[in-house]
Amino acid sequence: MIESTPRIASAREVVEELRRRSAFVMVSHVKPDGDTLGAGLALGLALKRLGKRVIYYQQDGVPRNLRFLPEADLVTATLPADLPADTLYVFCDMSDWRRAGDRLPAVDRENMLDIDHHLGNSLFGKLNFVLETECSTGTVVMHLLRELGVPVDGKIATCILATIMTDTGGFMHSNTTPDALELSADLMRRGADKEEITEEIFLRKRVAATKLLGRIVDAMQFGHGGRYCYSHVDDAMLAATGADGEDTEDVVNTLRGQEGVDVAALFKAIDGEIRVSLRSNGRLNVQAAAQRLGGGGHFRAAGLTYLGALDEAIAAVDAALVAEGL
Ligand code: AMP
Ligand code: MN
Ligand code: MN
Repeated sequence: MIESTPRIASAREVVEELRRRSAFVMVSHVKPDGDTLGAGLALGLALKRLGKRVIYYQQDGVPRNLRFLPEADLVTATLPADLPADTLYVFCDMSDWRRAGDRLPAVDRENMLDIDHHLGNSLFGKLNFVLETECSTGTVVMHLLRELGVPVDGKIATCILATIMTDTGGFMHSNTTPDALELSADLMRRGADKEEITEEIFLRKRVAATKLLGRIVDAMQFGHGGRYCYSHVDDAMLAATGADGEDTEDVVNTLRGQEGVDVAALFKAIDGEIRVSLRSNGRLNVQAAAQRLGGGGHFRAAGLTYLGALDEAIAAVDAALVAEGL
Protein backbone atom coordinates (compact mmCIF):
# COMPACT_ATOMS: atom_id res chain seq x y z
CA MET A 1 0.00 0.00 0.00
CA ILE A 2 1.38 3.41 -0.99
CA GLU A 3 1.03 5.84 1.88
CA SER A 4 -0.10 9.23 0.67
CA THR A 5 1.72 11.28 3.32
CA PRO A 6 4.36 10.45 5.91
CA ARG A 7 1.91 11.13 8.71
CA ILE A 8 -0.27 8.15 7.88
CA ALA A 9 -0.14 5.54 10.65
CA SER A 10 0.65 1.91 9.90
CA ALA A 11 -1.91 -0.84 10.48
CA ARG A 12 0.34 -2.15 13.25
CA GLU A 13 0.41 1.21 15.08
CA VAL A 14 -3.37 1.46 14.85
CA VAL A 15 -3.88 -2.09 16.11
CA GLU A 16 -1.53 -1.47 19.05
CA GLU A 17 -3.71 1.53 19.94
CA LEU A 18 -6.89 -0.54 19.58
CA ARG A 19 -5.50 -3.22 21.89
CA ARG A 20 -4.59 -0.61 24.55
CA ARG A 21 -8.13 0.80 24.80
CA SER A 22 -11.11 -0.77 26.56
CA ALA A 23 -14.00 1.13 24.98
CA PHE A 24 -14.81 2.53 21.54
CA VAL A 25 -17.28 4.90 19.98
CA MET A 26 -17.60 4.21 16.26
CA VAL A 27 -18.56 7.54 14.74
CA SER A 28 -20.21 7.79 11.29
CA HIS A 29 -20.80 10.91 9.19
CA VAL A 30 -24.09 12.81 8.96
CA LYS A 31 -26.61 11.50 6.40
CA PRO A 32 -24.82 8.16 6.64
CA ASP A 33 -24.18 5.84 3.73
CA GLY A 34 -23.26 2.15 3.59
CA ASP A 35 -19.55 2.92 3.80
CA THR A 36 -19.44 5.04 6.94
CA LEU A 37 -21.86 2.70 8.76
CA GLY A 38 -20.56 -0.60 7.38
CA ALA A 39 -16.93 0.27 8.17
CA GLY A 40 -17.74 1.18 11.79
CA LEU A 41 -19.99 -1.85 12.30
CA ALA A 42 -17.38 -4.23 10.89
CA LEU A 43 -14.61 -2.90 13.11
CA GLY A 44 -16.99 -2.72 16.07
CA LEU A 45 -17.95 -6.39 15.63
CA ALA A 46 -14.26 -7.35 15.55
CA LEU A 47 -13.48 -5.30 18.67
CA LYS A 48 -16.37 -6.96 20.51
CA ARG A 49 -14.83 -10.34 19.68
CA LEU A 50 -11.78 -9.09 21.61
CA GLY A 51 -14.00 -8.32 24.60
CA LYS A 52 -14.06 -4.55 24.08
CA ARG A 53 -17.02 -2.28 24.75
CA VAL A 54 -18.37 -0.72 21.53
CA ILE A 55 -20.93 2.04 20.95
CA TYR A 56 -22.09 3.01 17.45
CA TYR A 57 -22.77 6.75 17.29
CA GLN A 58 -24.74 8.34 14.47
CA GLN A 59 -26.39 11.75 14.72
CA ASP A 60 -29.03 11.31 12.00
CA GLY A 61 -30.03 7.68 12.57
CA VAL A 62 -29.80 4.75 10.16
CA PRO A 63 -31.52 5.21 6.75
CA ARG A 64 -34.23 2.69 5.90
CA ASN A 65 -32.13 0.93 3.25
CA LEU A 66 -29.26 0.25 5.69
CA ARG A 67 -31.26 -1.17 8.59
CA PHE A 68 -30.50 -4.70 7.40
CA LEU A 69 -26.81 -4.27 8.33
CA PRO A 70 -25.71 -6.44 11.27
CA GLU A 71 -25.86 -4.45 14.55
CA ALA A 72 -27.63 -1.51 12.83
CA ASP A 73 -30.30 -1.72 15.53
CA LEU A 74 -27.62 -0.80 18.11
CA VAL A 75 -26.74 2.52 16.41
CA THR A 76 -27.56 5.44 18.71
CA ALA A 77 -27.52 9.24 18.76
CA THR A 78 -26.99 9.27 22.53
CA LEU A 79 -23.72 8.43 24.22
CA PRO A 80 -23.80 6.61 27.57
CA ALA A 81 -22.73 8.66 30.60
CA ASP A 82 -20.33 6.02 31.94
CA LEU A 83 -17.78 5.82 29.11
CA PRO A 84 -14.28 5.25 30.54
CA ALA A 85 -11.52 7.85 30.18
CA ASP A 86 -9.62 5.66 27.73
CA THR A 87 -12.50 5.59 25.22
CA LEU A 88 -11.27 5.87 21.63
CA TYR A 89 -13.54 7.66 19.14
CA VAL A 90 -13.15 6.03 15.75
CA PHE A 91 -14.22 8.31 12.88
CA CYS A 92 -14.96 6.31 9.73
CA ASP A 93 -15.24 7.67 6.20
CA MET A 94 -14.89 11.39 6.80
CA SER A 95 -12.19 13.83 5.75
CA ASP A 96 -12.76 15.88 8.89
CA TRP A 97 -14.29 15.15 12.32
CA ARG A 98 -16.82 17.95 11.80
CA ARG A 99 -18.65 15.70 9.32
CA ALA A 100 -19.84 13.74 12.36
CA GLY A 101 -22.33 16.54 12.97
CA ASP A 102 -22.79 19.25 15.57
CA ARG A 103 -24.13 17.12 18.41
CA LEU A 104 -21.09 14.96 19.14
CA PRO A 105 -19.59 16.08 22.49
CA ALA A 106 -16.07 17.56 22.25
CA VAL A 107 -13.41 14.86 21.89
CA ASP A 108 -9.66 15.34 22.53
CA ARG A 109 -7.46 14.72 19.53
CA GLU A 110 -5.63 12.17 21.73
CA ASN A 111 -8.81 10.09 21.69
CA MET A 112 -9.54 10.35 17.96
CA LEU A 113 -8.73 7.69 15.38
CA ASP A 114 -9.30 8.72 11.76
CA ILE A 115 -10.01 5.86 9.32
CA ASP A 116 -10.74 7.05 5.82
CA HIS A 117 -10.11 6.99 2.06
CA HIS A 118 -11.10 10.55 1.03
CA LEU A 119 -8.79 12.90 -0.84
CA GLY A 120 -7.66 15.82 1.31
CA ASN A 121 -8.31 14.24 4.72
CA SER A 122 -7.37 16.83 7.37
CA LEU A 123 -5.49 14.14 9.40
CA PHE A 124 -7.34 15.23 12.51
CA GLY A 125 -6.73 12.17 14.68
CA LYS A 126 -4.05 11.09 17.11
CA LEU A 127 -3.61 8.35 14.53
CA ASN A 128 -4.69 8.74 10.92
CA PHE A 129 -5.16 5.58 8.90
CA VAL A 130 -6.05 7.14 5.56
CA LEU A 131 -5.53 5.11 2.40
CA GLU A 132 -6.67 7.18 -0.58
CA THR A 133 -6.24 4.35 -3.06
CA GLU A 134 -8.81 2.14 -1.30
CA CYS A 135 -12.28 2.00 -2.83
CA SER A 136 -14.08 2.25 0.52
CA THR A 137 -13.36 2.93 4.17
CA GLY A 138 -14.49 -0.66 4.75
CA THR A 139 -11.54 -1.94 2.73
CA VAL A 140 -9.28 0.31 4.81
CA VAL A 141 -10.76 -1.42 7.88
CA MET A 142 -9.92 -4.80 6.30
CA HIS A 143 -6.22 -3.97 6.71
CA LEU A 144 -6.86 -3.56 10.45
CA LEU A 145 -8.90 -6.77 10.72
CA ARG A 146 -6.03 -8.72 9.12
CA GLU A 147 -3.54 -7.15 11.54
CA LEU A 148 -5.89 -7.79 14.49
CA GLY A 149 -6.19 -11.43 13.46
CA VAL A 150 -9.93 -11.50 14.11
CA PRO A 151 -11.68 -14.01 11.82
CA VAL A 152 -14.03 -12.44 9.29
CA ASP A 153 -17.43 -14.08 9.83
CA GLY A 154 -20.61 -13.62 7.81
CA LYS A 155 -21.70 -10.50 9.71
CA ILE A 156 -18.38 -8.71 9.34
CA ALA A 157 -18.18 -9.84 5.71
CA THR A 158 -21.65 -8.42 4.97
CA CYS A 159 -20.67 -5.07 6.51
CA ILE A 160 -17.45 -4.85 4.48
CA LEU A 161 -19.11 -5.95 1.23
CA ALA A 162 -21.80 -3.30 1.81
CA THR A 163 -19.05 -0.65 2.03
CA ILE A 164 -17.50 -1.82 -1.24
CA MET A 165 -20.80 -2.03 -3.10
CA THR A 166 -21.90 1.37 -1.78
CA ASP A 167 -18.76 3.22 -2.81
CA THR A 168 -18.27 1.42 -6.13
CA GLY A 169 -21.95 1.94 -7.02
CA GLY A 170 -22.52 -1.81 -7.14
CA PHE A 171 -19.15 -2.45 -8.87
CA MET A 172 -19.80 0.18 -11.54
CA HIS A 173 -17.51 3.11 -10.65
CA SER A 174 -13.86 3.37 -11.70
CA ASN A 175 -12.69 2.48 -8.17
CA THR A 176 -13.82 -1.12 -8.85
CA THR A 177 -10.29 -2.50 -8.97
CA PRO A 178 -9.31 -6.16 -9.37
CA ASP A 179 -8.38 -6.05 -5.66
CA ALA A 180 -11.88 -4.85 -4.77
CA LEU A 181 -13.45 -7.65 -6.81
CA GLU A 182 -11.16 -10.31 -5.35
CA LEU A 183 -11.85 -9.12 -1.83
CA SER A 184 -15.58 -9.12 -2.60
CA ALA A 185 -15.41 -12.72 -3.81
CA ASP A 186 -13.56 -13.68 -0.63
CA LEU A 187 -16.19 -11.90 1.49
CA MET A 188 -18.98 -13.79 -0.30
CA ARG A 189 -17.21 -17.07 0.49
CA ARG A 190 -17.12 -16.02 4.13
CA GLY A 191 -20.88 -15.52 4.13
CA ALA A 192 -21.45 -11.94 3.00
CA ASP A 193 -25.04 -11.65 1.79
CA LYS A 194 -24.60 -9.99 -1.61
CA GLU A 195 -28.23 -10.57 -2.62
CA GLU A 196 -29.52 -8.75 0.44
CA ILE A 197 -27.11 -5.84 -0.10
CA THR A 198 -28.17 -5.55 -3.75
CA GLU A 199 -31.86 -5.65 -2.93
CA GLU A 200 -31.76 -3.33 0.09
CA ILE A 201 -29.27 -0.73 -1.08
CA PHE A 202 -29.79 -0.67 -4.85
CA LEU A 203 -32.98 -2.25 -6.11
CA ARG A 204 -35.95 -1.69 -3.85
CA LYS A 205 -37.43 1.80 -4.13
CA ARG A 206 -40.43 3.33 -2.47
CA VAL A 207 -43.08 4.40 -4.97
CA ALA A 208 -42.75 7.91 -3.53
CA ALA A 209 -39.04 7.87 -4.38
CA THR A 210 -39.74 6.94 -8.00
CA LYS A 211 -42.34 9.73 -8.24
CA LEU A 212 -39.78 12.15 -6.84
CA LEU A 213 -37.22 10.95 -9.37
CA GLY A 214 -39.73 11.85 -12.09
CA ARG A 215 -40.01 15.41 -10.78
CA ILE A 216 -36.26 15.82 -10.49
CA VAL A 217 -35.81 14.52 -14.03
CA ASP A 218 -38.53 16.95 -15.24
CA ALA A 219 -36.55 19.81 -13.69
CA MET A 220 -33.21 18.84 -15.34
CA GLN A 221 -31.23 21.66 -16.91
CA PHE A 222 -28.24 21.41 -19.20
CA GLY A 223 -25.33 23.82 -19.57
CA HIS A 224 -21.87 24.15 -21.04
CA GLY A 225 -22.81 22.60 -24.36
CA GLY A 226 -24.70 19.74 -22.73
CA ARG A 227 -21.71 18.57 -20.70
CA TYR A 228 -23.24 19.76 -17.40
CA CYS A 229 -26.59 18.52 -16.09
CA TYR A 230 -28.16 19.78 -12.89
CA SER A 231 -31.46 19.67 -11.11
CA HIS A 232 -32.89 20.33 -7.70
CA VAL A 233 -35.24 18.95 -5.09
CA ASP A 234 -37.00 21.04 -2.47
CA ASP A 235 -39.41 20.60 0.44
CA ALA A 236 -42.43 21.20 -1.82
CA MET A 237 -41.40 18.37 -4.17
CA LEU A 238 -40.99 16.05 -1.19
CA ALA A 239 -44.39 17.02 0.16
CA ALA A 240 -46.05 16.53 -3.25
CA THR A 241 -44.67 13.01 -3.68
CA GLY A 242 -44.55 11.81 -0.07
CA ALA A 243 -40.80 11.21 -0.38
CA ASP A 244 -38.10 12.35 2.04
CA GLY A 245 -34.40 13.22 1.91
CA GLU A 246 -33.35 9.56 2.04
CA ASP A 247 -35.11 9.02 -1.28
CA THR A 248 -32.76 11.49 -3.03
CA GLU A 249 -29.44 9.77 -2.33
CA ASP A 250 -28.60 8.16 -5.69
CA VAL A 251 -30.61 10.40 -8.03
CA VAL A 252 -27.54 12.41 -9.04
CA ASN A 253 -26.20 9.33 -10.84
CA THR A 254 -29.22 9.43 -13.17
CA LEU A 255 -28.30 13.02 -14.06
CA ARG A 256 -24.67 12.09 -14.65
CA GLY A 257 -25.76 9.21 -16.87
CA GLN A 258 -27.50 11.41 -19.45
CA GLU A 259 -25.91 11.23 -22.86
CA GLY A 260 -23.08 13.73 -23.36
CA VAL A 261 -22.91 14.71 -19.67
CA ASP A 262 -19.48 14.93 -18.03
CA VAL A 263 -20.56 16.50 -14.74
CA ALA A 264 -23.84 16.50 -12.82
CA ALA A 265 -25.09 18.31 -9.75
CA LEU A 266 -28.18 17.76 -7.64
CA PHE A 267 -29.16 20.63 -5.33
CA LYS A 268 -31.15 19.39 -2.35
CA ALA A 269 -32.85 22.38 -0.72
CA ILE A 270 -34.32 20.55 2.26
CA ASP A 271 -34.95 21.71 5.83
CA GLY A 272 -33.35 25.12 5.36
CA GLU A 273 -30.00 24.03 3.93
CA ILE A 274 -28.77 23.14 0.46
CA ARG A 275 -26.76 19.94 0.16
CA VAL A 276 -25.16 19.58 -3.22
CA SER A 277 -24.14 16.21 -4.70
CA LEU A 278 -21.59 16.32 -7.54
CA ARG A 279 -20.65 13.50 -9.91
CA SER A 280 -18.10 13.39 -12.73
CA ASN A 281 -17.31 10.87 -15.46
CA GLY A 282 -13.61 11.38 -14.74
CA ARG A 283 -12.79 14.37 -16.97
CA LEU A 284 -13.12 16.85 -14.14
CA ASN A 285 -12.24 16.69 -10.45
CA VAL A 286 -15.44 17.42 -8.52
CA GLN A 287 -13.63 17.02 -5.18
CA ALA A 288 -11.55 20.10 -6.06
CA ALA A 289 -14.69 22.00 -7.09
CA ALA A 290 -16.49 21.01 -3.86
CA GLN A 291 -13.47 22.02 -1.77
CA ARG A 292 -13.68 25.56 -3.20
CA LEU A 293 -17.05 25.82 -1.46
CA GLY A 294 -16.10 24.11 1.80
CA GLY A 295 -17.04 20.57 0.80
CA GLY A 296 -15.05 17.51 -0.19
CA GLY A 297 -15.17 13.95 -1.44
CA HIS A 298 -13.49 12.08 -4.27
CA PHE A 299 -12.39 12.88 -7.84
CA ARG A 300 -15.67 11.58 -9.32
CA ALA A 301 -18.06 11.96 -6.37
CA ALA A 302 -18.15 14.93 -4.03
CA GLY A 303 -20.51 17.09 -2.03
CA LEU A 304 -20.91 20.30 -0.13
CA THR A 305 -23.43 22.17 1.98
CA TYR A 306 -24.36 25.68 0.80
CA LEU A 307 -25.92 28.23 3.11
CA GLY A 308 -28.00 30.65 1.04
CA ALA A 309 -30.58 30.71 -1.72
CA LEU A 310 -30.91 28.02 -4.39
CA ASP A 311 -30.06 30.32 -7.32
CA GLU A 312 -26.92 31.50 -5.49
CA ALA A 313 -25.91 27.89 -4.87
CA ILE A 314 -26.41 27.04 -8.54
CA ALA A 315 -24.27 30.03 -9.59
CA ALA A 316 -21.53 29.26 -7.03
CA VAL A 317 -21.28 25.61 -8.07
CA ASP A 318 -21.21 26.59 -11.74
CA ALA A 319 -18.30 28.96 -11.03
CA ALA A 320 -16.43 26.32 -9.01
CA LEU A 321 -16.86 23.75 -11.79
CA VAL A 322 -15.71 26.25 -14.41
CA ALA A 323 -12.63 26.99 -12.26
CA GLU A 324 -11.86 23.25 -12.35
CA GLY A 325 -12.10 23.11 -16.14
CA LEU A 326 -15.80 22.69 -17.04
P1 AMP B 1 -22.93 12.45 -1.69
O1 AMP B 1 -23.16 13.24 -2.94
O2 AMP B 1 -23.66 13.01 -0.51
O3 AMP B 1 -23.16 10.99 -1.92
O4 AMP B 1 -21.39 12.61 -1.33
C1 AMP B 1 -20.39 12.28 -2.25
C2 AMP B 1 -19.05 12.36 -1.59
O5 AMP B 1 -18.77 13.68 -1.16
C3 AMP B 1 -18.89 11.48 -0.35
O6 AMP B 1 -17.60 10.94 -0.37
C4 AMP B 1 -19.06 12.43 0.79
O7 AMP B 1 -18.35 12.01 1.92
C5 AMP B 1 -18.52 13.73 0.24
N1 AMP B 1 -19.26 14.86 0.80
C6 AMP B 1 -20.58 15.10 0.67
N2 AMP B 1 -20.95 16.24 1.31
C7 AMP B 1 -19.82 16.73 1.88
C8 AMP B 1 -19.53 17.87 2.69
N3 AMP B 1 -20.47 18.75 3.06
N4 AMP B 1 -18.25 18.04 3.10
C9 AMP B 1 -17.28 17.16 2.74
N5 AMP B 1 -17.50 16.08 1.98
C10 AMP B 1 -18.74 15.85 1.55
MN1 MN C 1 -19.53 8.24 2.99
MN1 MN D 1 -16.47 6.17 1.48
